Amino acid sequence: MKRTITHLADGRELIYFDRRDDADRSAIDRRPLEPRPPASELRYDPLTEEWIAIAGHRQTRTFLPTGGTAECPLCPSTDERSTEIPSYDYDVVVFENRFPSFSGNFGTYEDVGGLSEVRPGVGRCEVVCFTSDHDSSFSRLSDDQVELVMEAWADRTAELSAIEGVEQVFCFENRGEEIGITIAHPHGQIYAYPYVTPRTKLQLGAAQRYKGNLFADVLAAERAAGTRVVAANELWTAFVPAAARWPFEVHIYPHRQVPDLAALTEAERAAFAPLYTSVLRAFDGLFGVVMPYISAWHQAPVRTGRELAYLHLELFSIRRAPNKLKYLAGSESAMGAFVNDVRPEEAARMLRSQIDH
Ligand SMILES: [Zn+2]
Repeated sequence: MKRTITHLADGRELIYFDRRDDADRSAIDRRPLEPRPPASELRYDPLTEEWIAIAGHRQTRTFLPTGGTAECPLCPSTDERSTEIPSYDYDVVVFENRFPSFSGNFGTYEDVGGLSEVRPGVGRCEVVCFTSDHDSSFSRLSDDQVELVMEAWADRTAELSAIEGVEQVFCFENRGEEIGITIAHPHGQIYAYPYVTPRTKLQLGAAQRYKGNLFADVLAAERAAGTRVVAANELWTAFVPAAARWPFEVHIYPHRQVPDLAALTEAERAAFAPLYTSVLRAFDGLFGVVMPYISAWHQAPVRTGRELAYLHLELFSIRRAPNKLKYLAGSESAMGAFVNDVRPEEAARMLRSQIDH
């Protein structure tokens, strides 16, 4: 793998991850770009003990370019058109988001009154392009390409964890217009947060109170029960959690407890690729229509709770039937109380029947 670091016209970092050592990454970004926006601000909600990022500049970001590859900012550049990626091709590329929720650009903050503490939205947001092929999808990547994406995730996790003030690194993919994705090109994002996220706090709090190793016991119990296992190999297991919140939800665990993506071995990365893409294809096979999904890597925080954490992927779709989406309505959005219309055992059976078809 070859890693080349370069910079875009407004100073943002862009990193190529190439399978070939002779890839030429000398292309220069000559676009006249606006200066980068100031950082967002963080406000603390004393009622829920959560930080909220207020990022007003994000309102102007690219929204669903309609021209396909002709307008896509994530396709490689051509002689006629300059995109976010100066090169004429790439394997995997990562760059700093132009409209970040968190960044290293500090603004100035006024006292906003109220009980809310305010601080700068320190951190970093990156975009990961999984392939230069606009019309592909993660589910159709080759095992080699998935492994390269995993190397990029591992590299970014290690690098972003080292930034002062960063407390947690989150690699994820939003897929499908129904999920609010604004650019069709296969890509994901990485958020480096200046705090530990609420869901991780909850999970690590539960792991702390549990007598034993919570994540390992959940995995062992699901493997023993078997009824909700969707796919497995020697190093990974994919299962629908017993108390799934979403109609189609799959958690994927490595059999060895590691804190984050950077700690996976080459063998573990290689074994993940075919398992994960077969689960994604099973999602798409369920109703014969593209499944919108969110795929989220749960990694240990940078500083706290690392010994309790267990790297795993949580994948879920909001589609519950061919023409029906699960919306977060009153109970879920207002109260955080989920109601799932699909029995997890039935979801697992349906997904299993689609594996390798
Ligand atoms: Zn594209």
